[in-house]
Amino acid sequence: VYPGRHLSAVMFLGPSATGLWACLIALPLTAQTPFPSSSGQAKHEVLILLADQPGRPFTDRILSGFRSVTMRERNPSVSVFAEYAGGYADESAEVAAERANWFEAKYKKHHLGVVVAVGAPSIELARSFRTGLFKDAFVVWAAGEFEPRPAPIERASGLILPVNSFGTFKLAQQLMPGATYVAVYGGGSKFDQPPRERFLEFLRAEAPDLRVLDFSGMPPDELKNKVAQLPPGGSIQYLATLADRNDRPTDTFEIMSALSQSRVPVFSYEDMSMGSGNLGGELLSWTDVGRTLGNMTLRADRGKGVNGSVETAPRTASIDWRQLNKFGIPEGRVPPGVQILYRPPSLWAEHRVAVTLSALALLIQTLLIGSLLAERARRRVVQAEARESEAVASAMLTSVPGYVVMLDRDGKVLRANDHIVAPESEFEKVLAGAVPDSNYFDVWNLGSDDSKRVITEVRRLTTGEINELTLVKFRPSPTGGAWLEIRGEHLDGGRGGAVVTHVDITDRKRAEMKAAADLDALSHLDRVAALGELSASLAHELNQPLAGMLSNAEAAEKLLALTPPDISEAREAVIDIAGESRRAFAIITKLRQMLKKEQASFEPVSLNEAVRDVTGFLAADAARRHVKIDLDLARDLPLVLADMVQLQQVVLNLMTNAMDAMETQSEETRNLRLVTCCDRRSKLVELQVRDQGPGIASDQLGRLFEPFHTTKRNGLGMGLSICRSIIDSVKGKIRAANSPEGGAVLSVTIPALAETAEPVSAERAAL
Ligand code: ADP
Repeated sequence: VYPGRHLSAVMFLGPSATGLWACLIALPLTAQTPFPSSSGQAKHEVLILLADQPGRPFTDRILSGFRSVTMRERNPSVSVFAEYAGGYADESAEVAAERANWFEAKYKKHHLGVVVAVGAPSIELARSFRTGLFKDAFVVWAAGEFEPRPAPIERASGLILPVNSFGTFKLAQQLMPGATYVAVYGGGSKFDQPPRERFLEFLRAEAPDLRVLDFSGMPPDELKNKVAQLPPGGSIQYLATLADRNDRPTDTFEIMSALSQSRVPVFSYEDMSMGSGNLGGELLSWTDVGRTLGNMTLRADRGKGVNGSVETAPRTASIDWRQLNKFGIPEGRVPPGVQILYRPPSLWAEHRVAVTLSALALLIQTLLIGSLLAERARRRVVQAEARESEAVASAMLTSVPGYVVMLDRDGKVLRANDHIVAPESEFEKVLAGAVPDSNYFDVWNLGSDDSKRVITEVRRLTTGEINELTLVKFRPSPTGGAWLEIRGEHLDGGRGGAVVTHVDITDRKRAEMKAAADLDALSHLDRVAALGELSASLAHELNQPLAGMLSNAEAAEKLLALTPPDISEAREAVIDIAGESRRAFAIITKLRQMLKKEQASFEPVSLNEAVRDVTGFLAADAARRHVKIDLDLARDLPLVLADMVQLQQVVLNLMTNAMDAMETQSEETRNLRLVTCCDRRSKLVELQVRDQGPGIASDQLGRLFEPFHTTKRNGLGMGLSICRSIIDSVKGKIRAANSPEGGAVLSVTIPALAETAEPVSAERAAL
């Protein structure tokens, strides 16, 4: 192969390579069978013939693309053999013949299913073996667009490798619309001629005004100098090259290193120049070419190769972002669909995890800050609300009359209003000690029974044993006594406690006592007056027993004067005297009771009894006035808490008013009816005094109980007013109404005491 060459050095790599190459150089090629064939595997053998010689980057890429596809095939697995067909450099016929022999010797025992031939020399080699060594193989060929089209081969399909110089130039024009010249660098070998000439022709037709500088075929050093002198305002078009004008094989990277000395951008469709200074072009990827050939080979190996079909390898317009920036070409000029390579990856693309984590951390931080701010704002609102409610609470505390303390469960004073500035009363002196943080129970620890009761009751309140407390305290004092009203409310909140108010009600109590005393005096006067009016009737009432007593005494005297004295008759008379005197005594006792000026004393008493007592008094008067009295008294009437004499006075007033009202009526209709009853549901005991008088005029009804309201000539108008005060004092009600049957109905209701009624005594019943 190398007889005409003056090799200055030979490099051997690896031990087997040493043997092989030593053989090749030192010995004529004899029968070599480097790949022993085994009968089972023979079918799926593939040979790829690459143009030129080993070590050219573009053939390496084709081969690696090809292997990446064919080596993956597992079922059946494909054995790939790769050889270099040479041919681009001038070779003698002898070399070609030796190579043919060499191939013959190497592959005669193989059963090649597919032969792939890349480039014109390989295709010619394949054709030469078509009838011999490769006669059973399907041929897959690949040829440059401007290479001479191979003559048709039987059972073959092909791939055209486009030369994309036109598209690349158009891309350059779009990116640099103002360029005034273009420097062209193409190869200097005979295989480099066609693409270069076609491009120059294209330039003349497409851009006639553009200055064209042709640097083709220049060795790298010369090229470097040339391009370094290029002025700005133009570009370089680099076409794929095989060799320079001295037939020295060119190397893309060496050329690109020379071209990058210029101050103008380089455009090229040469795939390998991308990333080494090429700004962009319509690229043909040699690796993709290898892959496409691999796929075509596998199809053919499976018997699916399409005889005579020819496809074109795809191209992709791409640009280098770094070069675009270097020459200040705006990205906006990049036509749509053009792939931008080497753009520095965005932070996101490069550090996805870190960015995500940082963003997450930022988000969490933001949320945290946000929530803290929200919390702060919320707290401010809450604080403002707390201040406001505090102010309201303080204002309320201050506005409450008396002294207010808020206690916890153990009696500790949590807050207190400051009503006691200068303590005067005894209570104030005690309560002045109930300041915040003191203990309320210590303050009341005075030893007296009263203070002990306060402590016990308030403690029940703070612990929640009771919910409400009303305690009226009376403490005798040097000034004559004072009243303190203690009211409390249990606090339901978590820690319990209570709010306790203290009001000095001494003045109120004194006023109440005075009013009661006034009422006593007034009602006494009223009674005296009423009984005064009754005196005639009462005298008549007393007259009977007294007359009886007198006549019985006289009879007894006579019976005892007889000889012998009639003792048994006289005893009868004396027994009668005793009975008459008891009757008189009872009347006088009642009268005395009613006339006695006494302070009212409240006891459980029977309303029925009061009615019977008064009826007894009035019996004589009623008879004199021709009034018939009817009693309809409920059995088992509950007792009421009242002063008996005052209750009798009410009944007396109502009955005399009723009898007065009937004065003008005819004698037959002067009926007075007294009814008592009890409403068990409302727990009220009721007395109704019904007469058959003219009733009460509607305009009088509202004023009946006013003091000094009277329609009577000699009336005082105080009777009903006193009745109302008495009934009020026992928490009862007095009402006046007209009966539908005619006459007035005066009714009194008083809260019932216990459910049990006091039995009526024999003595009272007698009256
Ligand atoms: P007095 O009997 O001195 O007038 P009262 O206060 O007892 O004072 O009565 C006030 C007025 O109410 C009477 O003057 C009378 O006009 C009216 N009155 C009271 N009871 C009756 C009744 N049963 N029927 C009609 N009028 C009545």
